[in-house]
Amino acid sequence: MKNTLSFFLFLPIVLLLTALSAEENLSVSYILVDFEQGSVIDRKDNAGFLEQPFPPGSLIKLFSTYAYLRDGGDSYKVLLCPETSIGSSIPPGCWYRPGHGYMDLIGAIANSCDTYFSKFFTLKRFTLLVNVLNQYQLITGSDFETLLALSSAQKRETWIGIGKHLRIRPVDLFFAIYSIVGNGSIYERSDSYLIFERKMKTGSNFVRVIREGMREGSLTGTTKTVQEIIGMKKVFCKTGTATYFFIEEDYRKTHGYFIGFCPYPEPQWGILVFLLNGDGKAAAKIGATILKDLLKQEENGY
Ligand SMILES: [Zn+2]
Repeated sequence: MKNTLSFFLFLPIVLLLTALSAEENLSVSYILVDFEQGSVIDRKDNAGFLEQPFPPGSLIKLFSTYAYLRDGGDSYKVLLCPETSIGSSIPPGCWYRPGHGYMDLIGAIANSCDTYFSKFFTLKRFTLLVNVLNQYQLITGSDFETLLALSSAQKRETWIGIGKHLRIRPVDLFFAIYSIVGNGSIYERSDSYLIFERKMKTGSNFVRVIREGMREGSLTGTTKTVQEIIGMKKVFCKTGTATYFFIEEDYRKTHGYFIGFCPYPEPQWGILVFLLNGDGKAAAKIGATILKDLLKQEENGY
């Protein structure tokens, strides 16, 4: 009798979850922007995922870079990412088990190296990171307190983009990264227009390192596929694969991000792709295809 009751109670919930999974598999969200014109060229975000906070994955490494440099960190410092065995923890191991070898900060951004970023993590720098996120209005006041109260191990994970302790709206992350690599302007999106919000002061060394790291990523690193798909256009990009956290955590799935700017080094266009259920590589392929179409239209004078 008890079992029968449970069956009837749980049936509607199971059906609802099945429906959600099918929807999730199909969901691709993106926004394509012309920063020079201040306009949104194209946008698809049926479920509004771009406006909801999710773990940022490796995109956070751009802000960790910012915090490291603000602390006087040396971008030319060369560190080793050694081979690690499958099953060893990240950090101090890297997601890339064969190891990235020796590299400087630009190489670490290009390869999204967990080990490099983990090696220059300190609690002081984490506090700087939280302050940077706050300046760019990526977190709320209560997030600020929560992040500073994390354990050292959780802070280190957050610093390299692992876990669910930090969550940011993808669209905010996109505009904040544009602000760093672009002209310092932060925008808000309103329908098909961008509303200029304010200008951030960014040191030229931060801009150079982050731009060059993203550029190197498209030439030899994690976003090489983008350069291959669109040809020799001057793009610079970063991917992210994040701990899945939508309503609740699910270790079997990940979120995928792609953020790309074109041309390098002064971007006119930018794209953000967010996959609720996917990885950075899949998001990069979608982003590259959209950018390729845009550049073809531009060449043809549309
Ligand atoms: Zn590595």
